[in-house]
Amino acid sequence: MNLHEHQSKQLLAEHGVAVPRGVTVAALDEVPSALATLGGARWVVKAQVHAGGRGKAGGVVLAESPQRVREAAARLLGERLVTHQSGPAGLPVTRLLIEETTAIARELYLAVLVDREARQVAFMASAAGGMDIEEVAASTPERILLARVAPAMGLQPWHGRRLGYGLGLDPEQIRALQDLLGRLYRLFLESDAALIEINPLVVTEAGALVALDAKIVLDDNALYRHPALLALRDASQEDAREAEARAHDLNYISLDGNIGCMVNGAGLAMATMDLVKLHGGAPANFLDVGGGTTAERVAEAFKLILSDPKVEAVLVNIFGGIVRCDLIAAGIMQAVREVHLAVPVVVRLEGTNAAAGLEMLAASDLPIITAASLSEAADKVVAAARETAGEGR
Ligand code: GDP
Ligand code: MN
Repeated sequence: MNLHEHQSKQLLAEHGVAVPRGVTVAALDEVPSALATLGGARWVVKAQVHAGGRGKAGGVVLAESPQRVREAAARLLGERLVTHQSGPAGLPVTRLLIEETTAIARELYLAVLVDREARQVAFMASAAGGMDIEEVAASTPERILLARVAPAMGLQPWHGRRLGYGLGLDPEQIRALQDLLGRLYRLFLESDAALIEINPLVVTEAGALVALDAKIVLDDNALYRHPALLALRDASQEDAREAEARAHDLNYISLDGNIGCMVNGAGLAMATMDLVKLHGGAPANFLDVGGGTTAERVAEAFKLILSDPKVEAVLVNIFGGIVRCDLIAAGIMQAVREVHLAVPVVVRLEGTNAAAGLEMLAASDLPIITAASLSEAADKVVAAARETAGEGR
């Protein structure tokens, strides 16, 4: 789960990390009191969306007067911000963070993440922070510094020294960095975070380290331990279908292709996606309806897949181990009758009562294509999707 910048900064501040003073507003008429609270004569107006790249997309505005703040707020609030991370549809801006300005001497990059290869928490840092960090990582990876934390040892002073020297900090700043790493490391562990990213971490003209931007990603699987963090969820920033799936306890991830996939079991779902790819197609989603699925869940899953306008054909691949394939077939038929089916559906059933299930589908008057093997199913669904696409839907 992603947190907004203002939420991330709140957590950082609670852990003693320096962040600019700021106030959030959700409506234009809240701007005057926000400016009065902050004081000063210049402000930064920042759109709160779950995507980076706001600076380059006009979502971060340096305003030199209250009038300019109002103009920026009027332009951003209620609109959708499209950045290189948001997807083409952009994300809705329902809240702005208005901050005091910071006098920036240098923009650094600092992140805490799980280094899966090393199975350790790692700090990543770069002297080339700011808005082009992706470019830096791609073209000059040697400018990205890494310091891993062995779990039994915990954070050591050398972590900060190594990164600090690499960043070209002076001795006093290195001590400040060591302190900062300790606070971030504690926050990372305590909140079961997957990522804390501060870009830029600035060195101010006075030489202090300040988190000018912050992004925290929490581990979904650990959220049950953090009700207070779970309450920070902003569903408006999330894929509506993924949220709907969560409500029905379905594991659904939206992808870029045009073949909707409904599968029981994560491993089988991965294998199914591989086979779709192998046959020249592209999955529109990953969807695991679970091992012990029911006809109702199949129906919900079906509606979810068909609500995606990208979908040009659907592949149902169910292995009836715990579930009975005839019940699944009934669920598919129920769902197809309930929703207006505009795309072809290919079904492969295997396992308990598979023959009975396939017979039911074949005997029905529904436009369902059955397949005897997974390979055949993948082949048929890719062909069916091509046909739908060719019809220029
Ligand atoms: P992002 O583009 O979504 O990552 O948004 P950021 O919060 O990182 O802001 C983008 C850029 O705006 C930063 O890299 C800074 O260069 C600039 N910026 C943000 N806040 C301030 C500020 O208080 N003063 C100045 N001068 N620049 C700022
Ligand atoms: Mn940033």
